[in-house]
Amino acid sequence: METEDIVEEKEKNKGKRKNKREIEKEESKKKKIITIILLILVFLISLSALFILVIYKQEKIIGFIKNDKILVNTEYKDKDFSICYGTIVNCKKVEVEKSGEVDTKKLGEYTITYKYKINNKEKELKKVVKVYDDIKPEIVVDEELSFCKNGNVGKGKYHATDNYDGDITDKVKLTIEGDKSYLEVLDSSGNRGSIEVDALEFTSDPTISLNGESNMYIIVGSKYTDLGAKASDVCDGDITDKIVVTGVVDSNKAGTYTITYSIENSDGKKAEIKRVVTVQTRSVVANGSSCSKMGAIYLTFDDGPQNGTTDKILNILNEEGVKATFFVTSNGPDSLIKREYDEGHVVALHTSTHNYAKIYASVDAYFNDLYTIQNRVKRITGFESKIIRFPGGSSNTVSRKYQKGIMTTLTSEVLNRGFRYHDWNVDSEDAGRCSSSASSSCVYSNVVGGLSKNRCNMVLMHDIKYYTRDALRDIIKFGKENGYTFEVITMDTPMVTQRVNN
Ligand code: ZN
Repeated sequence: METEDIVEEKEKNKGKRKNKREIEKEESKKKKIITIILLILVFLISLSALFILVIYKQEKIIGFIKNDKILVNTEYKDKDFSICYGTIVNCKKVEVEKSGEVDTKKLGEYTITYKYKINNKEKELKKVVKVYDDIKPEIVVDEELSFCKNGNVGKGKYHATDNYDGDITDKVKLTIEGDKSYLEVLDSSGNRGSIEVDALEFTSDPTISLNGESNMYIIVGSKYTDLGAKASDVCDGDITDKIVVTGVVDSNKAGTYTITYSIENSDGKKAEIKRVVTVQTRSVVANGSSCSKMGAIYLTFDDGPQNGTTDKILNILNEEGVKATFFVTSNGPDSLIKREYDEGHVVALHTSTHNYAKIYASVDAYFNDLYTIQNRVKRITGFESKIIRFPGGSSNTVSRKYQKGIMTTLTSEVLNRGFRYHDWNVDSEDAGRCSSSASSSCVYSNVVGGLSKNRCNMVLMHDIKYYTRDALRDIIKFGKENGYTFEVITMDTPMVTQRVNN
């Protein structure tokens, strides 16, 4: 029994040893497998690291800003950035083509495009640059200010300037907060400039002025068109539409009419101006009997100036101490018109072209021609002449060929436009009967034979005729010896006109 037990025990121990060895064997096997797996992992990781470092290529953008801003009127420098393409250890710089500009002088948003190629594939980046302005405008008071009730400046001066908008004086507004007053202005970017000012009170007087002449002369039966007046006020601005007109002109009845233009501003201050319109009958003006200088001789010369005649005529007039009226054209040198004016004669308007077909084709054509010669005289003398003589006179019939009734229209319209026209009642015939003989004595006898003490003597002559030039001294002598005076035509000279025939 005892032996059996011992054997069993031995067997048991034997088994135990065997099991321990097996376990140890299995564990070492496991360790081996783990080691192999780890080795494989290390290998794979190394391999992918190697791949990333030396094989895998990618695009890299360094330092690029998508949105940028710049103060107006300062220099814009595009911030550097770079693009490369390649592996981590070897990234090659990519060429970038830039397009688009930033105009730093102008507010706004500008887009700059950068184009480049990766593997022949077009790519681009866009940058938006905003040009902004955050600088306040400045208001400067130049002279002490006083203000109207409506906030307008009545007296004094200020100005406002802005770095971007320039002069913005007209945008300045007065604001009152409690007992303090400010001038304020906003620039186009909404920056506010402001300055505190003393608000003295200002009341203004309105001013009123006439359009056209203060004395107008029209002929009975012609149409009177009132040219109105203009009114303005420092506080209220243009108040022309508030003018009240009183008085009427009955252009069918000879007489003197007064039209009064009155204005009242928002301060209740008043101003007025008057126009006197004289309506004359044709018969009165035609024979010169309404003359205020009875017996006066008005020497008038048409169609000049011309070298060789006008200059000599001016010499004679100078020597005789007599003034005349020259109805000039676009001919001749400027210097003669200047001489006429400087030597105290009246430079009146005849025509620029003296081309009947052109002038009398239409009302517009007539005035174009007239304003051309008016501008010439103004350019040379600085004087705006409004005294005219129609080519051929107002009684001409040649205009019928070009426009029926045009003289009827023009003789009224020139008056409406502030002109005064003069025909003649003494014809020297230097462009008529005397021209074929070119005779000075013919001119002389026509003039002296036509003079009368009981009217104004409007003498028609032409300063382009040498035989008129040669008759002039004797005409003047005759006038002086026989008690006539010599006058020039002014805006107040009653018009001497003939009967309109077209
Ligand atoms: Zn003429």
